[in-house]
Amino acid sequence: MIEIRGLTKSFHGNTVLDQIDLTIQRGDVVAVIGSSGAGKSTLLRSINLLETPDAGTIKIDELRVDTARKTKKEVLELRKSTAMVFQQFNLFRQKTALENVMEGLIVVKKIAKEEARKKAESQLAKVGLTERVHHYPKQLSGGQQQRVAIARALAMQPKILLFDEPTSALDPELVGEVLDTIKQAAEEGNTMLIVSHEMNFVRKVATRVLFLDQGLIVEDGTPQEVFSHPKSERTKQFLANYY
Ligand code: ATP
Ligand code: MG
Repeated sequence: MIEIRGLTKSFHGNTVLDQIDLTIQRGDVVAVIGSSGAGKSTLLRSINLLETPDAGTIKIDELRVDTARKTKKEVLELRKSTAMVFQQFNLFRQKTALENVMEGLIVVKKIAKEEARKKAESQLAKVGLTERVHHYPKQLSGGQQQRVAIARALAMQPKILLFDEPTSALDPELVGEVLDTIKQAAEEGNTMLIVSHEMNFVRKVATRVLFLDQGLIVEDGTPQEVFSHPKSERTKQFLANYY
């Protein structure tokens, strides 16, 4: 279980996260929606401490981190419990698909090379890339690169997967294959927090939807609740742009 309490972050006096409280149960697929600048990326980046919050605690199972007094060891432990998939894939350009997936297994998880190779091959097979394991990122389509990034995240068996607009940089015809891969990972019981503007996908795959506005969670419910019966005027306005 993941428990976030009082998570707060300002940039130059502008409060981007305002004492966010959020509890995520194992297996939850939580979608975060909201306008540009609402703080969606900052929320994700604060959970794995890519961003340093001003205040708040993050608890992932037994590990509890007071973000304002975090130690190096806690940061490392928190990073091991999470895995992030970015809009721009962020693959190592000089490594093949296989080596990209193996890297974290060897360096972070300290798994022996041969075993790491087997795990990476099997994870790449699951995302449909058996034929592409020895390709470098530049030899892969955007959709394939993102599937490598997802395989890399899944291979680490994190307690939570963080996706920040994983399909926003893709050509429209490549979006479907990446969403299918994420959907499959959701169906296998992985806990995830996904920032996405793909409302049809969110509606179908998310177990829960959050609407973030001016640093606050103003909507928190099932897709049915949030899309059909939004509580706030801001959510109604936002959703009106999609339908
Ligand atoms: P988008 O949909 O455009 O990705 P977002 O909801 O992810 O938006 P954030 O990237 O979290 O929004 O940004 C929230 C606010 O914080 C914005 O006003 C942004 O300009 C500001 N911000 C984010 N990162 C920084 C930073 N490193 N330095 C200064 N301001 C920042
Ligand atoms: Mg963002």
